[in-house]
Order: sequence, then structure tokens, then C-alpha cells
Amino acid sequence: MIRIGLVPIGQIPESLVTLLAAQVRDKLKGNVLSVEIHSPVALPEKATPAFVLARLAHLLNNDQQKFLIGLVEADISESEDDFIYNREEHNRRMGLVALTRLRPEFYKMPANEAVFQARILKLVLREIALLLGLSLCQDKKCLMYHARNLHEIDIKYPSFCLDCRPRLDRAILKR
Ligand SMILES: [Zn+2]
Repeated sequence: MIRIGLVPIGQIPESLVTLLAAQVRDKLKGNVLSVEIHSPVALPEKATPAFVLARLAHLLNNDQQKFLIGLVEADISESEDDFIYNREEHNRRMGLVALTRLRPEFYKMPANEAVFQARILKLVLREIALLLGLSLCQDKKCLMYHARNLHEIDIKYPSFCLDCRPRLDRAILKR
């Protein structure tokens, strides 16, 4: 069975990770997989995506059914569309989602927890699907669309389109 681990990296409220895990389970329901929350990983002062991915690699074992998504509370992004990082190594079984630039406050907008959480969920689901072998989609409303900015993330539905959803189901079954 595929096991998806969410790994808080840096100071991330437990409630946020718990909610996210429940949302991911709900979105992937019907698929035989588990979503687990890992113990938090401390974040060094100057973290780069490569460094954080290397830390995550230590948490991966030889279990080919295990996938890790790191939620990083640090501004490791370098541009407006740099929210997701992953590595081809380890058979592409881990990815990072950087949270800092997903907050409206980062852009001097009023805080909005619902918007922030929706953005994280969409990126995490897309990253899980990418790790499972799905490719990007041209449908701007689909989770697999490659959003180039926050607006494009916001206008996506938090779901896979009618082409991508069966692809995802098949990818999970194949594992
Ligand atoms: Zn799609």
C-alpha cells in the first residue's frame, strides 16, 4: 500500500498539518493508500531546497511504497512560482512545498487562513500526483495544471479533471 508521509519542516502548527492530512485523505478517498504525519524536522538557518531534500532523503527507507512531502516553513523560494521542489533521485519519492510565499501576508495583503490552506492543499495534491507519475495538464482548473503564480493556483479547483483523476487512480493501483 502506498504510504504518503507529510513532514513538517520548521515551525508549522500541528493543527495545520492535521487538517491537511485529513483533506488529502478526503481528496484521495477511494484509493488504497495511507496518509501519515511525521515528526517535525528542525530547519537550519540558511536552508536551501537541496539541503532540505537531503534531510528528507534520510527519512525515506527502502520501502518503494513510501512517498514524503515536506512542508517547509521558510522562504526557500526564489521566484513567484517556486513553491514546489522535488528530486529525481530516490525514484522521485519526495517533494517539498514551501509555505511562506503562499500566505497573503507575504504580499502585504490581509491574512486569510482559508486561502493559505487551500493553496497548500492544491500544491500538495499536485506534488503527490507528480510523484506517482502523472504529468501536467492543460486544463487551468485541474490540479495538475502548472500554475505560474498564486492567481493561477487560486483559480484551480481542488480536484483532478476527468482525464487526470482516472490516470491517478490507475497510477495508484499500479504500485
Ligand atoms: Zn487534468
